[in-house]
Formats: sequence, C-alpha cells, structure tokens
Amino acid sequence: MTAILVHGGAGPHAEHRDAKRAAAVVAVEAGWAVLAAGGSALAAVEAATRVLEDDPLFDAGVGSYLNADGEVELDAIVMDGRNLTFGAVAAVQRVKNPISLARLVLSDSPHAMLAGPGAERFAREHGLTVPAADLLAPEALRQWRERRNGTARTPGDRAGVDQAGAVGDTVGAVAIDRHGHVAAATSTGGTRDKWPGRVGDSPIVGAGAYADDTSGAVSCTGHGESIMRVCLAYAACAHMAGGAPAHVACERAIQRLADRTAGQGGLIAIGRDGRLGWAWNTPAMPYAWRDDTGAGTGI
Ligand code: ASP
Repeated sequence: MTAILVHGGAGPHAEHRDAKRAAAVVAVEAGWAVLAAGGSALAAVEAATRVLEDDPLFDAGVGSYLNADGEVELDAIVMDGRNLTFGAVAAVQRVKNPISLARLVLSDSPHAMLAGPGAERFAREHGLTVPAADLLAPEALRQWRERRNGTARTPGDRAGVDQAGAVGDTVGAVAIDRHGHVAAATSTGGTRDKWPGRVGDSPIVGAGAYADDTSGAVSCTGHGESIMRVCLAYAACAHMAGGAPAHVACERAIQRLADRTAGQGGLIAIGRDGRLGWAWNTPAMPYAWRDDTGAGTGI
C-alpha cells in the first residue's frame, strides 16, 4: 500500500475553507507524484509540505503568523520511520522552506535539531535563506498591527497564549512508500503573537511528529504548550504499535490531550498497514489524502 495524507492545521478556519481544502489536494498530489515515481516516503512528505509552506493561506513558510515583534519565526521537523532519524529546526528566520532545512539537518549534519541563529547560518550555507520581507504576508502584518495596538507584550500576556485565537494553519504530512517505509513532516510559524524564541510542539520529536516503521507516522497541530505535555505524536504511534487502527489511535490521542491538558489540537496518522486516520477537537482541520484505492479531502 502506498499512501499520503496532509493537514492544514487544526483551528477555527472560519474563512477560505474551500481554498484550504483545494491547497491540501495540491499538496497531496505533489507528494503522490514522488511516491508514484518510486520515491521515498521521506521525499514525499517533504514535497507535500513545501507546497503548503509556499501558500500564504497557511501558517508555515510564506504567510506565517507573526511573533510579538512582528517577525516570522519558523519551526519544522521531518522524521524517517526506517531508522527513527529526524531533522528539526526551531525559531529560525529568513528560511522559505524550513521543512527542507530540517531534511538537510537530517542528511547533511551530525545533529538532529538546530535552533535560532545557528540554524539560520546552516540554512545560509546551503542557500536556503531569503530576505525576511519575502515571508511576510501583507494580511498577517495588517492583523499584527491591528492587534498590537501600541501595547508591549510579555511572556505572561494572555494574548499570546489564547488557544482559540492563536492556533490554526500549521501544515504537515505523513506517507508510506512502496517499500513499507513511513515518514512524517510538520512545519509551522507557531502561534500568533508568540514571544520571540518561543518554540511549540511542531519541531519536537514525539510531540509535533513521529514516524516508526513498526507502528506508523503522525503529524500534529494545535496548541503546542498542551501538545508537548502529552507527547501527542508518540502517543498515537504507541496506540498503533499496540494494534489500534490509525483512526482509533488518533481519537484516543486527541481524547488524552483534552482530558489531561484541556488543550486544543488535531493530528493525522498513517499505520504501517497503510490505513489512514485523523482527529481534531477544534472547529476544523483541512486535510487531503491519496492512496492506491482513491483520494479524498475534508475540513
Ligand atoms: N502547534 C503549533 C505551535 O504550537 C501551532 C499550530 O499547530 O497551529 O506552534
């Protein structure tokens, strides 16, 4: 079984619902093209995630939410289920496709995770940086100016941690290739108005994503401060390792997030058998999938 599944973030999604679903389908097709050509699950999730990073409708890459200083600051992770290796980047600026930077950390560095200026230097050496303005969507800047309203933020400000208003539009993908290898990817601009340097669940292995050929692959989204506390992606993989189908694993994991943290979020999963699952406890989460039997999309 060959399959790929993408999400466009758990959140309110009050607007642009059709456009977000359509974008998820374009991303799935990009990943599917890689799988159909015999490419790896790892390459497929990177290709799919890049499409959504390049789309200003989503909180990843171009068009990300701005932090309290009005800057785009990005987190991403990619994980290879063959051998549990991963690459991650955190709080990095001026990188157009952080998922590709994360993959380079995996393949071209002796490390697993790079953060801040060191991650940006690594990106520059690999030709992956762009001017900061290239990542700024006019709408994100307008909203930031409107909300900011002259008030300085502190890490304790509720404005930066209000779950309902802060999350949504993070992107991610999971895939299984013809060799039965799984991979997961997650990329985000984080939460709206976050404190500079704040890192959420997305680039944290086991929280924002996990992939293991012996269980499956998972990509998460939602309130990072809550998701990290239950290691949401690993929790879903553990359910699959215990024999739960992907959709049951997702439902159990999101239930635990709600029960233990009252957190809001969502996740997608693919089992080692190629079956798919998703769950969320926010109003909506755009997703799209394709496998050997067909394709679908929802929000
Ligand atoms: N999980 C992301 C974070 O906390 C946000 C999101 O998924 O919307 O940074």
